[in-house]
Amino acid sequence: MEELCYYEVLQVSKDATITEIKKAYRKLALKYHPDKNPGDKEAEEKFKIISEAYAVLSDEEKRRIYDLYGKEALNGGASRGFSNSGMDDIMDIFNSMFGDAFGFGQNGRTQNSNSMPYSLDIEIETTLEFNEAVFGTEKEIEVRYKEPCQSCKGTGAKDGKLSICDYCGGQGQIVMRQGFMTFAQECPKCHGKGQMIKEKCIDCGGIGGIAKTEKVTINIPAGVNIGNRLRVPAKGNIDNRGYRGDLYIHFDIKDDEHFVRDGDDVYIEVPVFFTQLLLSEEVEVPSLEGSLSIKLSPKVKDKEHFVFYNKGVPNVNNPSRRGRFIAQIKVIYPKKINSEQKELITKLHESFGLESKPNRSVFKNTFDRIKKWVKS
Ligand SMILES: [Zn+2]
Ligand SMILES: [Zn+2]
Repeated sequence: MEELCYYEVLQVSKDATITEIKKAYRKLALKYHPDKNPGDKEAEEKFKIISEAYAVLSDEEKRRIYDLYGKEALNGGASRGFSNSGMDDIMDIFNSMFGDAFGFGQNGRTQNSNSMPYSLDIEIETTLEFNEAVFGTEKEIEVRYKEPCQSCKGTGAKDGKLSICDYCGGQGQIVMRQGFMTFAQECPKCHGKGQMIKEKCIDCGGIGGIAKTEKVTINIPAGVNIGNRLRVPAKGNIDNRGYRGDLYIHFDIKDDEHFVRDGDDVYIEVPVFFTQLLLSEEVEVPSLEGSLSIKLSPKVKDKEHFVFYNKGVPNVNNPSRRGRFIAQIKVIYPKKINSEQKELITKLHESFGLESKPNRSVFKNTFDRIKKWVKS
């Protein structure tokens, strides 16, 4: 049996960026998560394989080994082999991406117990400013949710009369074969209900619910990032029994003009003029909280990093742990020099004597050696 490679499993190209890999994993993991597919062994197996692929491809070192030598090199080496790993390990991978603070919903309650034509949980995306994500914020958002339609008792069918689904014969699922695995897929027509609407309810248009809006105040924790999702309990859609699903919030975060975020680390580019380096100046750099100072010296090179530990973004799961703040030097040289400056630089240059022509002293003997080579 031929196995899919990890890139095929996540449906990404071999040169996919880490962001693309994360995105692909998020999409697939949410689809096959055991909480969404209770008792479905096929989905669990898929979830495992997806998580395994993600664990390798999201780790620079593991990905490199995998690209060069394949899966076997990983299983035999220091990294853990996945073939025997239990669900706990797999959940660790999932939680490490989504964060422990972002529970996937409570165990025990399952989507399958939902008899409504719409899902009870709502997923929305909200955009945060750079600083709102870094420091956390309280935000009021307008949520559109559904309440069961009175006329059809939430069925979506005229007078509440549902018929047996003609696509799956009332089974709610169809068995599919795709590549190396077979799995039962939810019936696309009845979405697993086994029943269908022959005639739509006029009041709700067959949706089974009536849309309502509500303002919800949410506390966004410091350190939240793209890929996290925040669960707000009991702010989702409502079913016939009055049970209310959860609201899940995904985040999009705006870029800052100067600060560049990478996980919990923050980078800033610091332009310095070459004379500032030679004169060992101290420069002030804006940080997330106030300013930091950097002591330059003639030894500092272009693109050099000044690392400030624990000055980055608070970790979303453990705010007392913060990432790094990294100032990257960008050395600026003059674009033009006038005659007066040229004179000054020449003077400076000459004042160094021999030291100002390191190429001469270093290559002195080499020139002599080459001359001999050319002769013979
Ligand atoms: Zn069906
Ligand atoms: Zn209705």
